[in-house]
Amino acid sequence: MMRVLYPGSFDPITKGHMNIVDQATQLFDEVIIAVLQNPIKKSSFFTLKERLEILNKLYCNNPKVKLITSTDTSTDLALEHDCKAILRGLRGINDFEYEKQLAGINRDISDNQVNTICLFADQGLQTVSSSVVKEIFYLNKNISKYVDPIVEEKMILKGEQNK
Ligand code: ADP
Repeated sequence: MMRVLYPGSFDPITKGHMNIVDQATQLFDEVIIAVLQNPIKKSSFFTLKERLEILNKLYCNNPKVKLITSTDTSTDLALEHDCKAILRGLRGINDFEYEKQLAGINRDISDNQVNTICLFADQGLQTVSSSVVKEIFYLNKNISKYVDPIVEEKMILKGEQNK
C-alpha cells in the first residue's frame, strides 16, 4: 500500500489543492490529507473543525482519500501513518525556495526517513491560493472559479455569521 501525506492549512481548500489531490490519487493507493494549524498564521478564516467538515463533504465518496488533523509535525504524521512521502504543491518560484528548505528540514529531523514529493497544479490553477481566495471574497467578488461550490457556500455562510 503506497500512501502519501498531504499536509496544509487548507483555509480554505482551493481548486489548486484539489487538483494536487486528484493527481496524487493517480500515483498513490491512498492520499492522507492532514489539516493542520499553521503556527505562523495567527488567525484563520475557518476553524480546524470547519475545514475538516468541508474536506469530508468533498471527499467522503473517494475511498482513496483519508482525512486527519493533528498537532504533530508532518514528519511524525508521515511516519505514524506509514506514508512513503510528504506531498507538497508548487505554485511558482517562491514556493520552490520555501518547499526546498522544508523538504531538507523534514528529511533531517526524520533521520532521512521522510522524503518530499512536489507536484504542479494544472495550468490555470497554478496561481490559486487560499489567501487570494479570501482577499477576493472580502472584496465581494466571485470566487467560484477558484473553489468548489461547497467551499463557496460555507464561506458565504461564515462571512454572514461574522458580520
Ligand atoms: P500552508 O499553509 O502549509 O502553506 P496550504 O494549505 O496553503 O499550506 O497549502 C498546502 C500545500 O498545497 C502547499 O504545498 C502549497 O504550496 C500547495 N498549494 C496550494 N495551492 C496550490 C496551487 N494552486 N497549486 C499547487 N500547489 C498548491
